[in-house]
Amino acid sequence: MFLAEIIGVGDELLYGETVDTNTAEIAVSLQPYAVGVRRTLRVADNLETLAQEVRQAWEKARLVVLSGGLGPTPDDITREAIAAALGEEMQPDPQVLEWLEKLFEARGWKMPEANRKQALKIPSATWIANPRGTAPGWWIRREDKDLICLPGPPAEWRPMWAEVLPRLGLPQKSYKQVAFKTFGLGESRIVELLGELFRRNGAVEVGTYAKMDGVAVVVRGEPGPVEALAAQIRPLLGEAVWGQEGDTLPALALRLLEGRKASLATLESMTGGVLGALLTGVPGASQSYLGGLVPYSPAAKSQLPIPPEVAAQHGMISSAFAEAMAVAARGMLGATYALSTTGVAGPEELEGQPVGTLFVGLASPEGVKCRHFRLPGAGREMLRQRAAHAALAFLVGELR
Ligand code: AMP
Ligand code: MG
Repeated sequence: MFLAEIIGVGDELLYGETVDTNTAEIAVSLQPYAVGVRRTLRVADNLETLAQEVRQAWEKARLVVLSGGLGPTPDDITREAIAAALGEEMQPDPQVLEWLEKLFEARGWKMPEANRKQALKIPSATWIANPRGTAPGWWIRREDKDLICLPGPPAEWRPMWAEVLPRLGLPQKSYKQVAFKTFGLGESRIVELLGELFRRNGAVEVGTYAKMDGVAVVVRGEPGPVEALAAQIRPLLGEAVWGQEGDTLPALALRLLEGRKASLATLESMTGGVLGALLTGVPGASQSYLGGLVPYSPAAKSQLPIPPEVAAQHGMISSAFAEAMAVAARGMLGATYALSTTGVAGPEELEGQPVGTLFVGLASPEGVKCRHFRLPGAGREMLRQRAAHAALAFLVGELR
């Protein structure tokens, strides 16, 4: 069996200040390959300990991946530890030094002396360029084994790893994964719906994963059995399915709007801007997302072009008010569609409505609708996130 070991380096990972997500993410990226990950480690910024662990991993595994400890400060010792473990001396690379100096020059600074060590390399390593930072990585191939050393920040190592991983020549596993992303069904309801199709045998494995954007039902394993089982499962999930592997609610909503050459406006109360933040997090969102308003106090809401009777008769946390908000937003921003949110994020109930209540209004050329949700979860932040995703799931359901 082809074995891999993954090591996260940094004191902060041991203190729990930073939760080690790198080793898990790298392990996930190895799933399509016939590679056994028997062990992942977190090791302190300690030269002796790290050198010892690298030596052990290098002995046992065909692939060793490290992340962290490539910074310019004296506590970053990953380079030194690998050099010690493999018994090589580091040399400065004039080309990398020049690249570093230019990088600082471009920012209008002189390169601090401390950064010089980032241009050090052992002879058997080749550089892995870092497009987002000052710490290039190392790729060492010796005796048909690979050691990859990456910086710690995910934004930096992800593109570097994406570059290297396909070039490692790892054996492919015959493996397929199909995901159905659902909204509005709890995990236990999904278990009930699937019944005996919720299988986990050698060939296929079904799993459910609850996230902010609903529950993902994932079928993985050998391609043939996975496809057959996925085809049986799909109809049982019905209308609850909004997307597949790789889809996110904001990106999908924007894609569907673009397909219709339609625009969107938002008017948020309960979500306080989270809905707009999710939408504007997608590159190119301005193609279809015009923008939104976040009137939060009753006084601010009274400025909206909504007849005062609506709030007086139904309250502001009601389907009538959500619909009036959506209509107002659509008119004010001149959008094809408008989404509104009003509800109770807690911790106290409001207008006699329990925490987790959400009304989403959706105004369109065909008229206006409302969907009432009772969101599970605790804490304002989680409820606001859930509410924003619920609003997008409603929109996606109407657009497709
Ligand atoms: P370093 O390259 O060791 O200087 O790491 C810089 C930053 O990268 C740390 O402060 C963390 O924010 C992040 N980081 C490092 N290692 C990990 C890890 N294993 N998981 C998640 N984030 C990490
Ligand atoms: Mg560090």
